[in-house]
Amino acid sequence: MNEAAFHALSADETFSTLNSTTQGLSSKEAASRLSANGPNDLISAKPSSRLAILLAQFKDLLVAVLIVAGIISFCLAFVEGSWENYRNGTIIFLIVIVDAALGFGLEYKASRIVRKLRSLILSPARAMRDGRLSEIPLQALVPGDVIHIEQGDKIPADLRIVESNNLRTNEFSLTGESMPVDKDTEKLAADLTVADRINMAFAGTTVASGNGVGVVVHTGMRTELGKIAAMTEDVIEVRSPLQDELNVLAIRLTIVAGAISGGLLVLALWSGLDWLVAVTYALGVAVACVPQALPAQLTVAMSSASQHLARKNAVVKNLPTVETLGSTNVICTDKTGTVTRNEMTVTRAWIGERELQFTGVGYRPDGEVLDEASNPVPEDAIRGIDLFFRSATLASTGTIHPPDDLHEGWYAVGDPSEAALVAMSMKAGIAYHEETTNFPELRSFPFDTERKRMSSVRRLPEGDFVLMKGAPDTILDVCVSIRKDGNVQPMTREDRKRIDDRNIAFSDQALRVLALAYRQLDGDPEGISQEEAERDMVFLGLAGMIDPPRKGVREAMRKCHNAGIDIYMITGDHAATAAAIARDIGLGRNSERAVRVVRGKDMAGLGDEELAYMMHSNAALIFSRVEPAHKLRVVRLLGEQGRVVAVTGDGINDAPALKRAHIGVAMGRTGVDVAKEVAEVVLLDDNFSTLVDAVEEGRSIYSNIHKVVLASLTTNIAELLAVLLGLVGIAIGNYAIPMLTIQILAIDLFAEILPLTFLCFDPPTKDDMRRPPRNRRDHILNPATGLEIGFLGSLIGALSVGNFFLYMQRHGLNLGQDAIGTIEYARASAMTWLTMAFCQFANILSRRYRDVSIFNRNILTNRILLGAVILSAGQTFLAVHAPGIRQFLGFAPIGIEDWLYVFGAAAIFLTAWEGIKWKRRRSTSP
Ligand code: ADP
Ligand code: MG
Repeated sequence: MNEAAFHALSADETFSTLNSTTQGLSSKEAASRLSANGPNDLISAKPSSRLAILLAQFKDLLVAVLIVAGIISFCLAFVEGSWENYRNGTIIFLIVIVDAALGFGLEYKASRIVRKLRSLILSPARAMRDGRLSEIPLQALVPGDVIHIEQGDKIPADLRIVESNNLRTNEFSLTGESMPVDKDTEKLAADLTVADRINMAFAGTTVASGNGVGVVVHTGMRTELGKIAAMTEDVIEVRSPLQDELNVLAIRLTIVAGAISGGLLVLALWSGLDWLVAVTYALGVAVACVPQALPAQLTVAMSSASQHLARKNAVVKNLPTVETLGSTNVICTDKTGTVTRNEMTVTRAWIGERELQFTGVGYRPDGEVLDEASNPVPEDAIRGIDLFFRSATLASTGTIHPPDDLHEGWYAVGDPSEAALVAMSMKAGIAYHEETTNFPELRSFPFDTERKRMSSVRRLPEGDFVLMKGAPDTILDVCVSIRKDGNVQPMTREDRKRIDDRNIAFSDQALRVLALAYRQLDGDPEGISQEEAERDMVFLGLAGMIDPPRKGVREAMRKCHNAGIDIYMITGDHAATAAAIARDIGLGRNSERAVRVVRGKDMAGLGDEELAYMMHSNAALIFSRVEPAHKLRVVRLLGEQGRVVAVTGDGINDAPALKRAHIGVAMGRTGVDVAKEVAEVVLLDDNFSTLVDAVEEGRSIYSNIHKVVLASLTTNIAELLAVLLGLVGIAIGNYAIPMLTIQILAIDLFAEILPLTFLCFDPPTKDDMRRPPRNRRDHILNPATGLEIGFLGSLIGALSVGNFFLYMQRHGLNLGQDAIGTIEYARASAMTWLTMAFCQFANILSRRYRDVSIFNRNILTNRILLGAVILSAGQTFLAVHAPGIRQFLGFAPIGIEDWLYVFGAAAIFLTAWEGIKWKRRRSTSP
């Protein structure tokens, strides 16, 4: 079969060429085609390879500094025959390798989890198999499959369209055409280009509107998309604010390290050291000053957060987004389905002046119809108003189903509001299945979020009818009469007022209200347009349904209040319903004051400045009866105010707003493919509180990196001070330096890499969500933190050098420069080294809490860190005591009393720091 020819075949010819029919394939045939054809996957879109992840570990500036230093060391070792430089170079490269291995391992693991979830995001295809429409994973599609597509779907394979109901697709990604293309089913000339083959729909494009049916003709790499070799995985690099900050920090630290080691070189030469010793020393110090693992640690923090989120049902498509989430300061959220459960039950109705109540819960169609006095309504009275119930059923496409293997109770398929109407009607004795088969649909005008209503033209025994339902205001717009006591009367002003009052009364009880209306047609219904159908309607009544808030939303709202995050609820629903739900969930910070409501129709009258000011001065707002364009405007204005916006959405019309926001959040269950494609985050459970959890994780990344930066700079300062004190010692008494270069380097390898990396695994703490959002202009390193680490680092440095001299004093030694290489020097320098390592362990553990004492009950919440510290402590013990390693590092075993001095120094350090925290606690608490 000629590859390009399907558009030149008629639908029937296509079916026979592919050996298929309108009924699709059998499962057996599909399975054999799948094994012959391979899965419907784009090979070139395979995620970043292991090698790429591995190489990425080496591309950071700080790591480069390290590698250069290592190379210089080896050069010195060869040229000068210096055994010491050979050892230094070895340690430096070991550091690089261990860092890379950790970074690679953790990042690879995270990328695999995220990739697995990403494949879950897109909805399965609706394909005909064994003569039934069923959901088939996209990868399992084969040529010959017949699939149904509708607005918002992403086309999973190349299709020959065999049925089109105003089907239009967006083909920009493939052909560059920016306007939606109308799709047709007619056979075309053979020599057309891809863009002109309008009876085909291509993989990777999306359905802009309408719906249709297509036969799969090519899958995977044989699709037009697959043929474009350049279509690899998105490689646009997204960077988070923190990554940018760390890059700046890296550059500065490299400059500082360069300056310091240059200064030291001069100082060392001046104080009479041999040039080779001086260069070696300066090089070691430069390396020690560089927190080379930081970029990798940030990745680790982000991947660990993204894994937590995945477990909580939030898929974050790019790692840096997790961190951006943490700086969110305003969330624009949907109401239905996000803060509420989207599980509707009609509890009240108002029909021809009577109010009715319905008993029963959920979609189970068992319940009673009661009157205002809670007495059962007699059957003949129900019969008098059955047009209301009939319209409710016939103008709905949503359905309800009895419990089955996958569902514990009755459940809805399709729109939950519609399913609720169907359940309501069944309680009144109207059976959905009989109705829809007995009274066939002639035309339908589906629901959209701008019109906010939908209608169905049906053939009933009495004639052809338009049956309509929608938001009461939009229904009233097209109603001219009202049905009361079985009679149709012109609608009066009073009628209208009564309907409005009742609508408000229902809405105030947090009910979502839909109105129903009908009209008998006299002309030919077949070619009727939407405008002709939806006019001069007869009002039937109102149905009010509850939609309870989701579990956890109240707490999530409170968290946002404490965290200084503004929340704007944007809904297509009625103002009063939205306000009542807002009250239920505590949307407003101040529970007494009602949250201000901005109605969609008022938004046109508000200038950008007024609206911006309103948002600036309200921490909570409700936008009701809005259209997608309004949402986009809100997001745009917030962006212009410099706020970091997260916005939720599910429909195709939400896509522009999702794209525009810093963080677009799509709904995994109810969202269309297009929304999921443009979003940065997909909530698999559609839940608002999951989004707040994601913000919390994002904040924890920042605080973890904050801790890691400060903790690692603290030792760098300590090492620097030890070196400087050593040089002073040379100058005043020709004392031996307290630590060799190789030992300085070994602090990183033995005592720091593991604990610092796993410090990034700290779970979010309550404090993270009690602070206002981070100001993006704040830096981790500022005068206050600088002073703190300056003090702590100097303390560690002084204690370490102190233990060196104490050792000499206790053992009555006087180690001069020439003592280097002796066993006594090896012991004394072990004292310096161990003191520094153990103070650093205390430092890292205490760093977990900004001003809470280290002695608290949360010590076990990061067990892997505790494990890393214990492991590292074991390593330092081996470094000093184990033969082989200790010779390599220039150490000799020390006695128990000496160890006590090491622990004593760590205790002094910890006490000093606890003192600082204690003072801080006292000055912040009133
Ligand atoms: P939201 O999702 O923010 O609650 P929607 O845009 O889905 O709002 O709906 C807006 C209004 O349109 C609802 O308040 C309701 O009155 C009406 N509506 C919603 N779904 C349907 C439907 N399937 N058929 C008719 N009207 C509907
Ligand atoms: Mg909705």
